[in-house]
Amino acid sequence: MEQDIPPPPPHVLIFLIPALGHVNSMLKLAELLSVAGLRITFLNSEYNHDRLTRHADVCSRYTCRFPGFQFKTITDGLPMDHPRVGHRFDEVLHSVKSVTPPLLKQMLIDDIKPPVDCIISDGFMSFAVDVANELGIPIIYFRTISACAFWAYFCVREIIDAGELPIKGKEDMDRLVKNVPGMETFLRCRDLPSFCRAEDPLDRNIQLFMSETRSSPRAQGLILNTFDDLEGPILSQIRTHCPNIYTIGPLQAHLKTRVPSGMQSTNGFWEVDRSCMAWLNKQPPKTVIYISYGSITTLSREDVMELWHGLVDSNKRFLWVVRPDLISGRDGDQSQIPEKLVEGTKERGYMVGWAPQEKILEHRAVGGFLTHSGWNSTLESVVAGQPMICWPYFADQQVNSRFVGQVWKLGLDMKDHVCDRKVVEKMVNDLMVEKREEFVKSTDRMSKLAWKSRYLRKLRAQPPPPPPTHRRCPSPF
Ligand code: UDP
Repeated sequence: MEQDIPPPPPHVLIFLIPALGHVNSMLKLAELLSVAGLRITFLNSEYNHDRLTRHADVCSRYTCRFPGFQFKTITDGLPMDHPRVGHRFDEVLHSVKSVTPPLLKQMLIDDIKPPVDCIISDGFMSFAVDVANELGIPIIYFRTISACAFWAYFCVREIIDAGELPIKGKEDMDRLVKNVPGMETFLRCRDLPSFCRAEDPLDRNIQLFMSETRSSPRAQGLILNTFDDLEGPILSQIRTHCPNIYTIGPLQAHLKTRVPSGMQSTNGFWEVDRSCMAWLNKQPPKTVIYISYGSITTLSREDVMELWHGLVDSNKRFLWVVRPDLISGRDGDQSQIPEKLVEGTKERGYMVGWAPQEKILEHRAVGGFLTHSGWNSTLESVVAGQPMICWPYFADQQVNSRFVGQVWKLGLDMKDHVCDRKVVEKMVNDLMVEKREEFVKSTDRMSKLAWKSRYLRKLRAQPPPPPPTHRRCPSPF
């Protein structure tokens, strides 16, 4: 008797822009889709793939567990030794846009096998829609930012048309912005995405962020790493332009539900220093504030020193991620961490170059998070129920910060977004002691809602995936 051969699983290409925040969340999405049985090709930039695999055998962790998983790389158009952090990150985006489109098309035709059934592209690369349309492949966008930041980006055209840009100096920063529907009563000029600070509304960064975001309705759908209880009203606004939205966040909570403990992906561009976990284990509950600026934000030496003084003066315990390239020199070169800072931290603090952030946020000793308000960090904090001090630097961080402080009441928005030791000291004390009760109520509530998100409920209703295989196999690189 002939047996029915099941059709091969669909093959999805995941294509992303070269930033760690994007790599982290798109790898999580790739892992979830693999757990569901899909074949995945993960197309990363050569530079970021190199960073990702330098400290851990990330490739075989995926390819061994999921036989249909493969990594591929594509150039971002810049030499490997070109700086890509801080303000230099804009150069990466412009370079990718000019260099990548023909390469992507050629890879899809000649190189990526079996043929791709669907592309999930970072929603910041509208050229992927052109390539997909030309080749007749369905395409869905994935934006790794919050819905509120996406909507602010989307409305920049209306803001410009209404004459609300440019911002006229420091005195103009607290003016309310009237042309982002749903945010009219609280969004100030200082909360707009950082590229809106350019003097000329025709600035190439404003045009880039605006036009890329406006192209979203051209894709067949839009995936956002968020959940309806957090961003429902703003999602309704976005749906008026992009009806087909999939709110699949928080991705890390979904992974924890689907993948047995200890097998979830851990990823980063630096070697993780786990010694901080032993230090944390010795601290009393809820006494440590964790400080991190994500993967590409850089700080001036002056800001680092103000922050350090504020932390020390607060008399609170702190765990601080000082990335090797965190401090920017005047000429863009990275400079060393001041000796005073290393020595002075030893009494109540602990410093690492790169931390296991999600585990830290879940640790019983941690009671707050001083963050640059990158979306992954914000969502990880929401899931872990940690109140935040938001000190935003660029891109979407200002919008996230305003929502954390003003709308969700999950923490404090750094006053005027300026680092001053007195402000840091007061905010740390407010978050950890004075205003703790009021924040904890809202963070607990939102954490529970995150764990109950619609998509998670659907997943829970499905049978768990089979246990992962542990066979060893060589990395394809
Ligand atoms: N992260 C980490 N260890 C660190 C600092 C950050 O694992 O020491 C991770 C963090 O958990 C998050 C990502 O790096 O997933 C940073 O993403 P986010 O969107 O917050 O900021 P970005 O790096 O894009 O500015």
